[in-house]
Amino acid sequence: MSTQLVWFRNDLRLADHAALIAAAARGPVAALFVLDDETPGNWRLGAAQRWWLHHSLISLGRSIEQRGGRLLLRRGRAGPIVKAVAAELGAHVHTLIHHEPWAAVQVNEAGPVTQHLGVTLAPPESVLSGTGGRYRIFTPWWRKLLDQMPPPRPLPVPDLRWADVSRIASDELDQWQLLPTTPDWSGGFADWQPGEAGAAARLADFAHRAARYDAARNLPSVEGTSRLSPHLALGEVSPNTAWHVIADAVGEGVAEPYLRELGWRDFAANIIGQFPDHGDAPNREAFARFPFVDDPAGFGAWCKGQTGYPIVDAGMRQLWATGWMHNRVRMITASFLVKHQLIDWRHGERWFWDTLVDADYGSNAQGWQWVMGSGVDSSPFNRIFAPVGQSAKFDAAAYIRRWVPELAKLPDAAIHAPWEAGVALIRAGVKLGRDYPQPIVGHEAARARALAAWAQVKAGRSDDAMQ
Ligand SMILES: Cc1cc2nc3c(=O)[nH]c(=O)nc-3n(C[C@H](O)[C@H](O)[C@H](O)COP(=O)(O)OP(=O)(O)OC[C@H]3O[C@@H](n4cnc5c(N)ncnc54)[C@H](O)[C@@H]3O)c2cc1C
Repeated sequence: MSTQLVWFRNDLRLADHAALIAAAARGPVAALFVLDDETPGNWRLGAAQRWWLHHSLISLGRSIEQRGGRLLLRRGRAGPIVKAVAAELGAHVHTLIHHEPWAAVQVNEAGPVTQHLGVTLAPPESVLSGTGGRYRIFTPWWRKLLDQMPPPRPLPVPDLRWADVSRIASDELDQWQLLPTTPDWSGGFADWQPGEAGAAARLADFAHRAARYDAARNLPSVEGTSRLSPHLALGEVSPNTAWHVIADAVGEGVAEPYLRELGWRDFAANIIGQFPDHGDAPNREAFARFPFVDDPAGFGAWCKGQTGYPIVDAGMRQLWATGWMHNRVRMITASFLVKHQLIDWRHGERWFWDTLVDADYGSNAQGWQWVMGSGVDSSPFNRIFAPVGQSAKFDAAAYIRRWVPELAKLPDAAIHAPWEAGVALIRAGVKLGRDYPQPIVGHEAARARALAAWAQVKAGRSDDAMQ
């Protein structure tokens, strides 16, 4: 039986890993991960995800060692490296199909590779309309995906026999310097447990809370969502596993709102298959002419959580401190950047890419283009989130107290808009401009400016079907 090389990418797990299972059935297995910052078009992992990757690789490496093997680590352009290692071992290569545009380039360069399913619930190209076309709108796509659901039940770790890799060069993980040095901003990441065991623990914990998901998922003050996204982003758990564990725990009917969110992740893969440059180019052509403003100071205030809007600042500080932000607040902060500050969505997208532990090319671009209104399936531009209204509606007071402690003494009614708090501000001992910023823009003026910019774009074109 000939040696089989399993090329791990953002699928850092042993369970329910079709490439590993296929390899194990065919011969002794070698395991390789390549840190690729070089393939053209590749979005290099951001800093927060590098932190995660470091710990996840330790976890995967240990799991392999406990089973008697060794995870080979190499850095460089993935395709040629995989090809060379396969040649040295005389091995055939197996990997999972990834959907980022550069993933196919890597595979083409790696030479003969057998690709397997397992990154999404279903292959994106298998969800087709009656006329055989790909979907661009979520709801009909989701209905069609459901025809193929539930996904296959997850498979256990196979029995493994390891190839001799003692002659194959491997880097030391520490050489890669994936962790921050000075300053070390990762102190607030301590609650995360990267790796397959951490993913399983997080999923098991969420299974106890999943019945309350629909009621709680929009409330940033409570732990209502799974927080499984970084584990899914690096593939420490398969989406099929997440589907079945939650559906088994609460029943498919009660689980539906959660399963549907999981569907958005697949939908993002479907969209980048049709728009590979989704991270850079608006789907709707009119938005290429949008009059964004150049405002480095305003962008800096947004990044640091110093806009004077408590819900926006709380979200941006949660992101910086923990590498994660609640979905509702991602929408509010993103909307604030592009509509209140008129800053190009791609700046925000890149900041998220660098700071999110769950950064995912398709989901991040989809989120930003949805908020901007430039995506194929997105919120219309003229639906402008009112940050104060959103903050009150979704009961964000406790969330704001946690992340914007300078406002902690304000009562719930005043904390969403401190500039209107009057005497409550004095009682809390808070002086705007000294303890906490004045609002960087006024909501009504910003809204009027955004709508005027949009009207200008619309006036300059006649071919776009945008509302
Ligand atoms: C501007 C913006 C940027 C975003 N960037 C990313 C990103 O880089 N990576 C990322 O995984 N998600 C991104 N999202 C989607 C969403 O915010 C996160 O997936 C979610 O907050 C993760 O938390 P959770 O695991 O607790 O989610 P849950 O509510 O528990 O959802 C379950 C799973 O479904 C998936 N999911 C949920 N919502 C979405 C969505 N809207 N799009 C795609 N997948 C979804 C995630 O994998 C998540 O773990 C973004 C959203 C916005 C508005």
